[in-house]
Amino acid sequence: FAHAPSDLNQLIEKARGFGDRPCIVDFDEAGRERRLSFADIFAWRDRLAGHLDIRRGDRVAIAMRNRAEWIVAFLAVIRLGGVAVLLNSRGSAAEARAMVDEVTPALVLADSERAAALRDAGYQGRLLDLIAPLAAADVPFVDGMTADHDDPCAILFTSGTTGRVKGAVLSHRSLITGLLGTQLTGTMVLHNMARDHGLSVEALTAQMPPQASLLVSPLFHISGLGAGFLAPFLSGGKIVIMRRWNAEEAVALIARERVTQLATVPTMLWDMVNRARLTDADLSSVRNIGSGGQALPLNLLEEVRALCPHALMGVGYGMTETSGAIAQAVGADFLRARASAGRVLPLVDLRIEGADGAICGPHATGEIVVRSAMVMRGYWNRPDDTAKSFTPDGWLRTGDIGYQDEDGYIFIVDRAKDMVISGGENIYCAEVERVLSEMPQITECATFGIADDRLGEALVAVVQADGLDERAIIDWVAGRLAPYKAPAHVAFSRAPLPRNHAEKIDKIALRALWPQLVANY
Ligand code: ATP
Ligand code: MG
Repeated sequence: FAHAPSDLNQLIEKARGFGDRPCIVDFDEAGRERRLSFADIFAWRDRLAGHLDIRRGDRVAIAMRNRAEWIVAFLAVIRLGGVAVLLNSRGSAAEARAMVDEVTPALVLADSERAAALRDAGYQGRLLDLIAPLAAADVPFVDGMTADHDDPCAILFTSGTTGRVKGAVLSHRSLITGLLGTQLTGTMVLHNMARDHGLSVEALTAQMPPQASLLVSPLFHISGLGAGFLAPFLSGGKIVIMRRWNAEEAVALIARERVTQLATVPTMLWDMVNRARLTDADLSSVRNIGSGGQALPLNLLEEVRALCPHALMGVGYGMTETSGAIAQAVGADFLRARASAGRVLPLVDLRIEGADGAICGPHATGEIVVRSAMVMRGYWNRPDDTAKSFTPDGWLRTGDIGYQDEDGYIFIVDRAKDMVISGGENIYCAEVERVLSEMPQITECATFGIADDRLGEALVAVVQADGLDERAIIDWVAGRLAPYKAPAHVAFSRAPLPRNHAEKIDKIALRALWPQLVANY
């Protein structure tokens, strides 16, 4: 890759050539549909870049729901050499204020709602409401800046599943490498499919419907930014933007816009399967469904395959700190190892480290550590957290526990922080959750440890289920796993379990709810 682009803008510039092809479909404040071509998006970006007064290296926060303005803002900021700070647009005003205070941006680009919320929360720095029309005195954008490989390009916050969110600083190199890896894997999948159908790649591509992806994840999240926006944008596909996740709307949009691909988290697939059953919508256009962020329950996989028989199912494993997926498996490759999180992608080195720091062989469980140009430079303003997340020889500690089989498939056993030590035995919450989710009456479940005088920690479960009692659930687990892994207590929740902005179950919130759930039971 000696001649690989050193500036993400160089890759992005290529998409200008898609000209009048449809680029973005979304809805304005009044719910009116907007359709923008690649040429429209580039013209808008250049106009905004001319308007913004920012210098190379300035941090510029984006505080907006998913919408065309978000995409244009991101493109304009990085075009000027700025560092796009992607703020969670779903949190409270106080949370947004706290994030802004932490990264002290030179400018905030916001939608009207978040602009007002930040002002109400006392923010007094520079702020531009991008939904209001730009002032007339536009300065023509002078193209002259080139970023270096290691310049920071974006700061993305982690999902906060295991504690407070941290801002991962991703360089141009990290994002470019992630996109190149995705492109390489896509090409490999295409070649495999062509071979399986006895066709040439050209003949196969000619048969495929025009690429249209549904953006379901928030753009401030790495899967929204990478798989949802940049990857389809660079390959000239149409992107149908959802302001926020809504299964009913998703199913309707898939049918209407003939959506061919979507990158989801399992919770969205649950919602979609349940919604589509009620509407019998036409989902026949879908060719590719990716799932990541969390383990994909096997019965859910089967339901999705039944719902979208033409779709290749894929799994991706990655994190904010690695600019997206570092492992993946698609189609037949995935169905061969359905419980896996895929195989390591090109441009990534991965190893499993045992408790003693030794490298594990096949099937031995330890922490997953990786080395790649995709890995972040560090956490913004948190040198201690940064130091803790790298090994002495510079590999990133993922905090995930897993193993590889002899074919290289990766199996995630649990997050290191979710392991419960009960009576001296290690219990992986994810393993117990997997077994629970196979109980047909259970819609959602989560397990975690609570303090216990005798055991140190006791494993407890919260489930949303129909017609089950605690005994039946404990017996189900005890009959399938070592009996000490069965939850000591089960609480039932009528409401869906709380989720964080990445649609992952929020165990911190659940833990706080636990006394109340037990009391209601
Ligand atoms: P925080 O780091 O703030 O606690 P988070 O780890 O949930 O939050 P993300 O960076 O969005 O924030 O998520 C990355 C994590 O998601 C991974 O470290 C892993 O634990 C989990 N994950 C991602 N993909 C998969 C997958 N396919 N199977 C199982 N777990 C996955
Ligand atoms: Mg994490």
